[in-house]
Amino acid sequence: MDMSTEAGIAADAIGNAVQALREPAVERLCALVREPSLLGAEASAQALMREHFARLGLRVDEFEVDEARLRDHPGWSPSLVPYAGRRNVVGVHHPKGPVQGRSLILNGHIDVVPVGAERLWQAPPFAPVVQAGRVYGRGAGDMKAGLIAMLTAFEALQRLGLEPAASVYLQSVIEEECTGNGALACLVEGYRAEAALIPEPIPAIMTAQMGVMWIGLEVWGVPVHAAVAQTGVAAIEFAQHLCAKLKELETQWNDPAHRHPHFAQHDHPINFNVGRIDGGEWPSSVPTHCRVDVRVGFYPGLKPAQVRALLEAALRAAYEAHPKKDSLRYEIVYRGFQAEGMLVDLNQPMIRLLKQCHHDVAGGQAPLLASTATTDARFFQLYGGIPATCYGPQAGNTHGIDEWVSIDSLIEVAQVYALFIARWCRLNPV
Ligand SMILES: [Zn+2]
Repeated sequence: MDMSTEAGIAADAIGNAVQALREPAVERLCALVREPSLLGAEASAQALMREHFARLGLRVDEFEVDEARLRDHPGWSPSLVPYAGRRNVVGVHHPKGPVQGRSLILNGHIDVVPVGAERLWQAPPFAPVVQAGRVYGRGAGDMKAGLIAMLTAFEALQRLGLEPAASVYLQSVIEEECTGNGALACLVEGYRAEAALIPEPIPAIMTAQMGVMWIGLEVWGVPVHAAVAQTGVAAIEFAQHLCAKLKELETQWNDPAHRHPHFAQHDHPINFNVGRIDGGEWPSSVPTHCRVDVRVGFYPGLKPAQVRALLEAALRAAYEAHPKKDSLRYEIVYRGFQAEGMLVDLNQPMIRLLKQCHHDVAGGQAPLLASTATTDARFFQLYGGIPATCYGPQAGNTHGIDEWVSIDSLIEVAQVYALFIARWCRLNPV
């Protein structure tokens, strides 16, 4: 193994410089978890990211998602809340010394998913707890630890008196968890590089990601007095009837005979999740209306328009099969993810280098993972022609209760990223 980088700095020195930042990294992660950056409320966490970028001497760019510029882009997903006051923050490094290497985007999302039933949490979700080598809290793993790993990697090189000898863009974006429009806005704003890495909590090199779509069903039944409920149709029951048909499609797509080869070994790659239901009035009326929101996974290679056609055909068949169909109505609403899947070419230079850096820091072969979720990597690769993947820390209970991230893993990922920057961008003394 060649332990030297182009600037003559040993990989071990880089690893040690990252390790020296362990305590501040944990403190900074806790501070970031304390900012409850739920959908629409990202501003206070983004203010912290802006401070970090400024502290590292980066130029700080901030901009809102401009819906008018993005709406016709193939990567656009219909939004859920307005964008006013909700900014992406980008830290920009252009080398002061000569450009010697390749440019790089490091991207992470600042938004976190809803906390769910707070009474199930051991500690309040936005009051981080450091315990037994882990940081607990909503967003600790997904993906504030990744954002801190990016910062720590960059800072460690700086502490060694070095700068990346190519442009590096550190992006902290909104709305990865429901549309991806934050990352799309960065692309449309014009940020480009020769590779993009995302430290999502995937402790492996991501080889593929699933397509994801959100579909909403507005359903109307035949309302009557509950005393003669058998003469009407409850909207809630009609909605269940429609969802049962969607679940049949889920079963078919999971059938080994219908799988995408990248997901052949997985237990259950396709998930249709009924994530939200809202319906009915009170116990003595047959419900007049119901709204159901479903998250649908689909294989790489399918376009969202094709998936919409398949879902609509299945729902139409379920409607036609209902004995009281003439008195029933439903409408389909697409808001949130309309995200196509993607595959990662494992033979490209960025992946080969990432594997080498993982090997040199962690030892052994980097694990590989085909993700059954979506990530912002799709924008770079599918619409920007920028090779992209995810590689990040070990986390648990993401999107669940008592979410956590491993501190050792955060540091190891920061070491891998620092080494990757050194070898991809090369280094200048400053
Ligand atoms: Zn995430």
